[in-house]
Amino acid sequence: TALASVPKYKLNNGRDIPAIALGTFLGFDERGMAKSQNKQLRDVILGAIDVGYRHFDTASVYETEGEIGEAVRMKIEEGVVRREDVFITTKLWNTQHKREQVVKALNESLQKMGLNYVDLYLMHWPIGLNEDYSHSEVDYMETWRGLENAQRLGLAKSIGVSNFNKEQLQRVIEKGNIKPVVIEIEIHPQIIQKELVDYAQAQGVVVMGFSPFGSLVMRYGMHFPGPKLDNPLLLEIANKYGKTTPQVVLRWLVDRNVIPIPKTLKYKRLKENINIFDFELTSEEIEKINEFDTKTRYTLPSFWQTHPYYPFDRIDNPIADPFVKN
Ligand code: NDP
Repeated sequence: TALASVPKYKLNNGRDIPAIALGTFLGFDERGMAKSQNKQLRDVILGAIDVGYRHFDTASVYETEGEIGEAVRMKIEEGVVRREDVFITTKLWNTQHKREQVVKALNESLQKMGLNYVDLYLMHWPIGLNEDYSHSEVDYMETWRGLENAQRLGLAKSIGVSNFNKEQLQRVIEKGNIKPVVIEIEIHPQIIQKELVDYAQAQGVVVMGFSPFGSLVMRYGMHFPGPKLDNPLLLEIANKYGKTTPQVVLRWLVDRNVIPIPKTLKYKRLKENINIFDFELTSEEIEKINEFDTKTRYTLPSFWQTHPYYPFDRIDNPIADPFVKN
């Protein structure tokens, strides 16, 4: 099969970023989730490189950096890719937000990966936490200075943010010495994020969209209300282009110049999810899909909502903090 050819966007610092990234969050094992799948992940990444993926999204808290680094190093040794052909995004966890902790945290990630730089280092949340997960008052602008240090040292080629709201992104753009190149946020048909995407793109900040399939799929063993794989509108569009409904949703992101981050551990789906660069939706089709918007978030850590830098609307009945061990 032909290698999927993936376009690239230009970041505001002149570097290139591939237009799709493979997601690698497998869940947390204390909560009965998929940590055992880590063993599979290295081989999934090898397969992903074979079918054309060149961008991998991980985070210190996912504990998948080791498997990604190992697979990338294997493909470099095999001569299939060079380091500069691969784009690796990882993220700083909330408990490392003090300025002097950032470079140390990134060095630990690099050590796990066996690499000497990442292409993109994101602040995972604007929320700083202490070691015991109690709330820390550390300002994310202080954390941003730490990311700037990491870039100056060459440990990260580019830096950006994740799960920031518009005001928070604006503050980093205005107060930072280095402009963020990317914002990574939840985007799928049920949370289209029009305002934040428009703002970021107008500022020259590339948007990456996580949990791109929304309610179409099961995720971490859970179903979510909303359009499914057999939704009539999505099926109609899919049939028109000879595509599947997951491909239509990924293409809807691409057509909004958003980088989708689909996760799969299945080889067939790796190929399906990257095979989206040979068709294009009409603006009417994009608008129709936008109508699914109910502003529904799956990543909603309401247990942090008393934090001064909580980025989302606060709700009445926050859930208990799963990170705090009693
Ligand atoms: P996704 O929308 O990628 O959904 C993943 C689920 O869809 C898995 O259960 C997968 O199953 C299934 N799937 C994948 N492809 C297909 C297909 N073609 N047809 C049917 N089912 C499919 O959600 P995620 O929440 O995993 O998000 C993706 C990535 O985004 C994460 O892995 C992570 O990298 C990033 N992320 C970032 C966050 C942040 O805070 N910055 C928060 C959440 C996610 P299977 O593996 O069995 O194929």
